[in-house]
Amino acid sequence: MAKQMKTFVMKGIGEVGVMEKPVPADPGASGAIVKTTVALICTSDTHTVKGAIGERDNLTLGHEAVGIVESVGSEVTVAKPGDRVAVNAITPCYTCENCLRGYPSQCRQMLGGWKFANIKDGVFAEYFHVNNAEANLARIPDSVPDESAVYTTDMMSTGFMGAEHAHIPIGGSVAVFAQGPVGLMATAGARLLGAGLVIAVESVPKRQELARHFGADEVIDFTKEDPVERIRELTGGDGVDSAIEALGAQITFEACVKATRPGGTISVAGYFGEGDYVNIPREDWGVGMSDKVIRTGLCPGGRERMGRLLRLIENGRIDPTPMTTHTFPFEKIPEAFRLMDSKEDGVIKPLITF
Ligand SMILES: [Zn+2]
Ligand SMILES: [Zn+2]
Repeated sequence: MAKQMKTFVMKGIGEVGVMEKPVPADPGASGAIVKTTVALICTSDTHTVKGAIGERDNLTLGHEAVGIVESVGSEVTVAKPGDRVAVNAITPCYTCENCLRGYPSQCRQMLGGWKFANIKDGVFAEYFHVNNAEANLARIPDSVPDESAVYTTDMMSTGFMGAEHAHIPIGGSVAVFAQGPVGLMATAGARLLGAGLVIAVESVPKRQELARHFGADEVIDFTKEDPVERIRELTGGDGVDSAIEALGAQITFEACVKATRPGGTISVAGYFGEGDYVNIPREDWGVGMSDKVIRTGLCPGGRERMGRLLRLIENGRIDPTPMTTHTFPFEKIPEAFRLMDSKEDGVIKPLITF
């Protein structure tokens, strides 16, 4: 019998559990097998279990993990067994039309770069398989611990994307709506990209505190004041150059359009999981003529980007680990998952150790 490993799976909509599966034995010519060391639970995992991508049958969950290379296929030269590697949540093929067009997150089809815990088993397992490993395995520098490196797999990549897509002029003003882990990394990304004024919108005290830690100059509590009015006040009545939506809700999207000055950019990093339409406030959109840009995107992957994100940690530009509010051994992953789902106990990210 094949060697067995423990995995954490979606048994069906609304149902999760620990189950044994065979250890993946053959990486295939272009793939790799990685022995997991640490992983992070993502709010997306809880969306998946609620049915966001439809029914799944014992699909291994998880898309944020790092580990040690166990084996690689004959075509893989960038890493060898024993190397510590980070693999992004998004693992494009880098050969299809959409990848070649420069949109690898949309590999083959819309959102098709997302393969872990979607179209193949994810990373909440003692071992996981990586497709197109030459393009997707990033070696972790010796000085970067796994507990930090794991943040490059989604939170740093997605949050920084929010800031990159926002086209922030150096010294410009940015508002970031919501300070969950993606919003916090958008705040940090805006600061790294040279924003002159970073305004975070958030009501939870622990998240407000982290927003300041990661570079917000101002934090607006939307339960106490109207964030759009306050943003206008802080920018001399103009509105911000760039607004980043990091929640995925009509109300914050609308506020982004309202708070952005003409010619500004609204960058969407949130997941819009409800309703058939997202509405745009017509007048704040300049009746269609405001030169405002709305830019969307899905977590960018690939080893080249991962190398740059890891370099930021290596050289002390950022330490993402204050977002780890809880740590659980893999045996307790059902408990960690419940915590992430309920958002109780001030949770931001639960780290899982293997
Ligand atoms: Zn994630
Ligand atoms: Zn592709």
